[in-house]
Formats: sequence, structure tokens, C-alpha cells
Amino acid sequence: MKRIAVVDNEKLKDKQQKLHIQGLCPVNRSGTECIKVEKDGKITIDESTCIGCGICVKAAPDAIKIVNLPKILDRKPIHRFGENQFALFSLPTPLFDKVIGILGVNGIGKSTAISILAGILKPNFDELGKEASYEQIIDFFKGTEVQLFFEKVKEGDIKISYKPQNVELIPKAQKGKVRELLKKVDEKKKLNEIAKELEIENILDNDIKKISGGELQRVAIAAAVLKKANLYVFDEPTSYLDIKQRINVSKFIRNLADEKDAVMVVEHDLIIFDYISDLAHIMYGSEDVYGSVSGLKPTKNSINVYLSGYLKEENIRFRDKKVQFEQRKPFVKKQQEELVSWEDIGKKLGKFVLKAESGSINKGEVIGVLGENGIGKTTFVKILAGEIKKDAGKLNENVKVSYKPQYLEANDELVMNVLKDPINKYANQIINPLNIKPLFLKKLNELSGGELQKVAVALCLGKDVDLYLLDEPSAYLDVEQRLIVSKVIRDFMELKGRSALVVDHDLLFLDYLSDKLMVFDGIPAKEGIVKGPFGMEEGMNMFLKKLNITLRRDKESLMPRVNKLGSKLDREQKEKGKYYYG
Ligand code: SF4
Repeated sequence: MKRIAVVDNEKLKDKQQKLHIQGLCPVNRSGTECIKVEKDGKITIDESTCIGCGICVKAAPDAIKIVNLPKILDRKPIHRFGENQFALFSLPTPLFDKVIGILGVNGIGKSTAISILAGILKPNFDELGKEASYEQIIDFFKGTEVQLFFEKVKEGDIKISYKPQNVELIPKAQKGKVRELLKKVDEKKKLNEIAKELEIENILDNDIKKISGGELQRVAIAAAVLKKANLYVFDEPTSYLDIKQRINVSKFIRNLADEKDAVMVVEHDLIIFDYISDLAHIMYGSEDVYGSVSGLKPTKNSINVYLSGYLKEENIRFRDKKVQFEQRKPFVKKQQEELVSWEDIGKKLGKFVLKAESGSINKGEVIGVLGENGIGKTTFVKILAGEIKKDAGKLNENVKVSYKPQYLEANDELVMNVLKDPINKYANQIINPLNIKPLFLKKLNELSGGELQKVAVALCLGKDVDLYLLDEPSAYLDVEQRLIVSKVIRDFMELKGRSALVVDHDLLFLDYLSDKLMVFDGIPAKEGIVKGPFGMEEGMNMFLKKLNITLRRDKESLMPRVNKLGSKLDREQKEKGKYYYG
């Protein structure tokens, strides 16, 4: 069996530690040099003689990874970053007139694959220091759609425009007003038209450094689309957007694909992924070690395969259990013990006014919170958490709360110190399922966005309180992590009989974990009206009606799916007033 060894020499302390690891290797001990300490002091591992015993990994888990490759990948990778570095084995297929979705966890080569398609990175077919010619690439993909694509790349007929993943980095690299920045890339001379479609006309004269995350996301999408290209790639186009904006952006991206233009999308919100893509690839592999791409399938099939955790054609199991959604039982009012209640709460913040009609949260309930950006969700959560004082109304304030804010602050404390309580008390319920152990010795400011989010969720759940308030816990998480975090929150509340209020924009995430829903109505930045909690069906119906979209449940996985606007099902469900098929 072929295996991949990845070594991060920066994470090994000194020569003594390297020699110690070398001395542990059974292959070295038997006289064959498998682990070598090179003249420059770096460790290398010979993958052809390594027997995969894992002893060196145990000795330096942060620095060394050894992974057995599935049989199907017993071949040369398309690209290897260097000796004992990440390897990519396959590429996704762009198709004209189609939106191709790419589904998969972070760290398995999505950006590398896109860079190769874009011609930014020339693959080396595992010959380090070399760059493959277009003839070699075309030959490698003979008989596939990728061959046709690279023939066009070779002829100079493909121009790619790319919307990067981390839009929050844009203000660090760019200066000036949004309009001026977009004008610079407006090769199509369509700035006003595109700005209107993406609803960013009102912020065109604002400074790029002063706009919100959701506005920045739409400015980045506009910049990508204003360039003249014929392959448009969007890496996570809906982060920071509320559901209304997610649907709007999805429609906009879908409309780009035509016989002259191909579109590719990486997206972690599964309902949006389903809505936006015609066909999809699953990317699988091992984080920071290797990645490969499954065959192209209709999106629905790809999602169901992904949820099942098993790629049949490749014979690869990437999750122990399949993810199963539940048909919702109609909500029945039970006599439950009330934990917190409010009546006619009012709060004025500058020009914004928040009003909360009467409502209550019972013990043991998980309440999902839905609403547009800028409509007071975080303000309400902060009032419940006692971080902001209300101006009017009643609220029983004797409830102990633990609050995970929307924006996470990182400092140089070690993860294991910050999470002392949950590590001691809830290793099996929180720390292990969230896979936080490998982060113990890292400082908070060394973590990626997704890692920091998991730590913040663990910190919030680790406190002994009555009510857990989690503001946007799905942000920065990949699709797999979202499934895990929603399960951890739900199982924890069930186990402890505690209550949670979860604000999020990922409908699937909320559908999976919530018993009830609160809906925020009103006009962003002006007025927010808090309604509910309602039963799932009533709350979802109210929310989806405003968005004018209907959801059905997939027959196989029971996952909620957005109906095509104007389709038979969409019309039928609207006639019955059943926007949400619970
Ligand atoms: Fe040696 Fe490979 Fe075992 Fe590491 S996993 S100790 S390199 S045989």
C-alpha cells in the first residue's frame, strides 16, 4: 500500500529530538534508512520503505503525519508541494453553461486545485522542481472534460476570475472608496448594474475599511464578476451573509453560467450548495496531507453521498456514521418549566429600535434564531446575557448565562489553559467530538477561524449555567465541522437538560439542532421586532414566506432542499401555505 508522509520541520524542536525520532523507527532500527536527518538538519521520510507503524507520529503528532492512501490513488499525484509535503491527486471539472459545486472539508487542496485550473500554479506530477507542459497535462487527462478544458487553456481561450475565500483580508491590502476600487476592475463597464443586483449601491461611496463583512463579501463578488473572464470561481461566496442575501447571491451566481461561461463554487452551507450548483464533486482526503476529487455527479446525489460518509466508486469511507435528518413531528405544547421570559422589551441604539413582544424559553429547549443582518439579533442576545441594559419592559434576570459572541477575540493564551473546565468535565461530550485535543498547545491567536470557533463553542458550553447563548457558531466552519458542532450542541442540551439560544444564518444547521424558532422581523438598521419562539413549522413558514422560498425534504436523507422558484412543488406548497416541509 502506498502512503504519504508529511513532515513540518518547523515544528520539531532541535537535532536531538530529530535523532530521537529517527532512533524510534523500526525500519531504521532494522538497518534501512527510512527516517533521514539531512545535512541541513531537516528530517525526511522515505515513503517507499515506511511501514506505517505510526511510532514517529506518536512522538511528534504536530510535526509528522503518515496516511495510508486508498487503492484508487496508487498513482502519481498531479502536484506535490515538495518532499514530504501535501499531494493533490485530481482536479475538478469546469463545464460551460453549468455551476459546478465542490464539497469537502478545509485543508484538502481546494485552493490548490483552483490555482492549477487557473494556470496560476503549474502542476509537477511529483517531479519536484519541474513544471509540466500543457502537452503533459492534456495527455494526463486524456478522454475527460478536463482535457478539453486544458486544450482551451493552452490556446489562451480561458480567462479565470476568482473570488477569494478570506474577504476580511481585502481591506488590509486595498485603500479607498468601494466605487474607485470596483472601477479599476470594471472591464465589462457594468459597475452600476452589478452593484444594483448585489444590493451594494448604497455603500459605493464608503471606505473599503469601514464596510461590514456581508458588504465586503458582495463587493468581492462584484469585483470578480466585473472582470472579463469565462471561468468564474467563487470560494465560499456566502460567509457573513444573512439568508436573504445568500439566496440573492446564489441566484446571481447561477445566472452567470451560460454556453460561454463556466462557474465553480466552493460552499459549506449545504442548503445553499444544493441551490446554487447543477453538478458537484466531493473532495476527499486527509487534512494537510493529501486531497483528491470524486467523479462529477448531480448535486442531489453528491450531497446524499456526502451525508452517507461513503464514496462507493472510490471505496472510501470518510465518516463512521451517516448523517440523517429527521422528519419534524408537529409541535405539541407541553407543560414545561419556564426558564426565562420577557415582555415588551424595548431598546434604542442610535437610530435603531428593538422591540421584543412577549416570549419565553423553557428548560431543556434549543431555540434557533433567524433574521436578516442588522435587525437586532445580537442586541437581543446581549440583553438576555446582561451585557446590554434594556430601556423598557420586563425580563427575569436571575438566569445564569454563558455567551459566545459573534466576533471572536484571540490572544496569546494556550487553548488548554482557556479550556481547563470543559477538558476536565466534558472530554467526551465536547472536547473529543470537536477534535480540540490537537489544538491544546496552540495559542488562540495561532488558530484558524474554524479552530477558534470550535474553541469558543467549547468554552461557552463548558460553563455551568442555565442558558447558553451562541451567536453564529457555524461561521468559519466547513461542512463537516458544521454537522459536528450542531450535533454537539444538541446532544449537550439533551444530556444536561439545559437551554440554548442559537443565532445563525445556515438554515440546515438550525433545522438540525432547534426545537423551536424565533424570527426577527423589521427593517435592517432601523427597527427590529422579535417574534416567538414558535414551533419549527410555524416559525419556518413565517420566515420562508417573507423570503418567498419553499423547502421540501429529500426523500433519501430527509435533508431540507430549496424548491426551484415557480416549480410544481413550489407552487403547490405556496398554495397550501406550507413553505417549510417539516
Ligand atoms: Fe518509521 Fe514509517 Fe513507522 Fe514512522 S511510520 S516510525 S517513518 S516506519
